[in-house]
Amino acid sequence: MSEAARRVIYPGTFDPITNGHLDVVERALQVFDEVIVAIAADNTKHPLFSLEERQELARQGLAHLGPKVTVTVFSGLLVDFVQSQKARAILRGLRVVSDFEYEFQMALMNRKLSDQIETFFLMPRDTYAYLSSSIIKEVSRLGGDISPFVPAQVETALRKKFSNKGAA
Ligand code: ADP
Repeated sequence: MSEAARRVIYPGTFDPITNGHLDVVERALQVFDEVIVAIAADNTKHPLFSLEERQELARQGLAHLGPKVTVTVFSGLLVDFVQSQKARAILRGLRVVSDFEYEFQMALMNRKLSDQIETFFLMPRDTYAYLSSSIIKEVSRLGGDISPFVPAQVETALRKKFSNKGAA
């Protein structure tokens, strides 16, 4: 296997990173030598956190995994970014059945755009199977305890965001 084949790109919005994302990265490290978490700059989702904030929170949340995991941002087509990193693999997480259709469509579209690149799917630990960044934001906004589901820095950052909003 070539060097490039062991590097995987994990793209997403990461608004913010959760323990579900972390779980997927940790699992991937058992198979791949290097995981590049790639935060999408082009996004139709209107993220709560800026690109810089998402990158910083992801870096902090993944720091314990060491130098095999890096965090970066990308814009434009994912397959172009993957090729620019000399990688041939994309990593995505699959939670519930509802993820499947979108992920299936995207994986096949990416394959049409570049048949050199394969998408790999990993399922998280069952505790995180219903976890999403959106539900975390919703629970935190309403004052619920999200500490079992996110890195400590994310919990603090969310609390700050929503207390500022409340004060405004
Ligand atoms: P996107 O906007 O690209 O879906 P996300 O940050 O929401 O970005 O998710 C990035 C990837 O991580 C997606 O493949 C998503 O399915 C996966 N993911 C998100 N949360 C979890 C989780 N709790 N368990 C497993 N995979 C997850």
